[in-house]
Amino acid sequence: MNQHNLGRTEIARKLIIDGQFVMPVDGQTFGTYNPATGELLATVAQGDARDIDLAVAAARRAFEGPWSRFTPFQRQEVILKFADLVDRQFEEFSMLDTLDMGMPITLTRARRQRAIGMIRFYASMCTAIGGRTLPNSLPGNVFAYTLKEPVGVVGAITPWNAPLTSTIWKIGPVLATGCTMVLKPAEDAPLTALRLGELALEAGVPPGVINVVPGLGTVAGAALAGHMDVDKVAFTGSDATGRRIIEASKGNIKRLMLELGGKSPDIVFADADLDKAVAGTGMGIFGNSGQICSAGSRLLVERSIYDAFVERVADFAKGLKVGNGVEAETQIGPVVSSRQMQRVQSYLGIGVDEGAEVVTGGNRLLEGPLAQGYFLEPTVMKNVGHTMRVAQEEIFGPVVTAIPFDGPDDAIRIANATVYGLGSGIWTRDVAKAHTVAKGIRSGTVWVNCYGMLDPVIPFGGYKMSGYGRESGQDHVEEYLATKAVVLQNG
Ligand code: NAD
Repeated sequence: MNQHNLGRTEIARKLIIDGQFVMPVDGQTFGTYNPATGELLATVAQGDARDIDLAVAAARRAFEGPWSRFTPFQRQEVILKFADLVDRQFEEFSMLDTLDMGMPITLTRARRQRAIGMIRFYASMCTAIGGRTLPNSLPGNVFAYTLKEPVGVVGAITPWNAPLTSTIWKIGPVLATGCTMVLKPAEDAPLTALRLGELALEAGVPPGVINVVPGLGTVAGAALAGHMDVDKVAFTGSDATGRRIIEASKGNIKRLMLELGGKSPDIVFADADLDKAVAGTGMGIFGNSGQICSAGSRLLVERSIYDAFVERVADFAKGLKVGNGVEAETQIGPVVSSRQMQRVQSYLGIGVDEGAEVVTGGNRLLEGPLAQGYFLEPTVMKNVGHTMRVAQEEIFGPVVTAIPFDGPDDAIRIANATVYGLGSGIWTRDVAKAHTVAKGIRSGTVWVNCYGMLDPVIPFGGYKMSGYGRESGQDHVEEYLATKAVVLQNG
């Protein structure tokens, strides 16, 4: 790892509590590994319930301390400084995500504008927060207004699949609103969160506002989700863990925001620009090795073009360069871990047993240095019935299941026939059809003639079992605010 500039890792490996870099109470550590090589990347302090207690106490003190007296302009200034520091270190962040979870460096670098734009967007929201005056019908000359106040101490729990952007989505609204936080990053990719916590301190965020405690989900994560002094949990991860978080939140009736999994339909009509649709649907699932919550993992293709289009997507998949993400020509990196690789492979077996046909892919890549990592061929399955497990359950790997449909109503019916509702895509030249289908699909985002485009002002989140709450945009900041009504009788 020394050949890459990972920053001051001797500090970054420790917990960040109350502005200090500390070892956990019991001194335990865990390893984080490079999925392209299987090599140990760094040893990281492993917090448990006692460290979470200390971090929550620090966050509470910070919430009630000088941070609560920061004006909106002062918070904005600190966030903009933070944005500048992350921008300055962007190459380091790109490399950190590539090494820690495998995303190709071309992708991690390409997120620069969006990531920095996201932080600056939250800075802009500091001065946009405000209540309303309320015309009312109460007797006695009553003046009523609302105040928007920070909800308090936030417990943020993140997954490993896009460490930089998913962590910024957690830190941004906390700083914009004047909340404080304890951040528990995923075991498989904790380094980016630690480095962001360090830079936030350097930017002038007061000690205790952002505490970072890596650790096991079932230990540190569970302690945070159940903590009686945490006011809100912002969670991104699987729906199975989401259910545990709901359960754990009951003690003190925490607010929750849950960004969960998906099985997103990407719908191709016969009248689409098919060249654009091949590449768009292909990268919509294979980008980041399918490890994107809103990946277009169900390819719905109008029956008249089904065979020919699926063949073209298979050719596209075959042409993708799979390799170590540090290499500039790599388009598809490894999956994050051996466990994740086995999970994806087991789904391929399930699909074949159910009667699906593997058109291309399906194998682990073992040539030369690839044998050390967790590389899977981009895989296209056809003859998939929409009720099969491979069409219903989130695989979270480079596997697309192609399903035929007959016309817009059938497309909507199949698109909605899962428990999830996160993303969806529509490819057509018919504008009226695009609007009709977009309205009919129950998902938090619908992309038309594109896939996966995100912007700091556009809200992102789920319907149904993909969770609730929105990240990005003004709606996101609102999630971190409580509304207080003040009712004042003048007469
Ligand atoms: P995961 O649910 O296994 O873990 C997510 C986080 O929860 C990790 O930090 C983990 O340590 C923690 N955790 C695990 N058990 C816990 C418990 N009992 N209490 C508290 N915390 C616990 O998910 P993952 O494998 O890291 O990520 C993949 C999942 O995340 C996929 O389902 C994917 O769709 C979803 N995801 C959703 C979005 C979104 O915005 N909707 C974005 C990215 C990923």
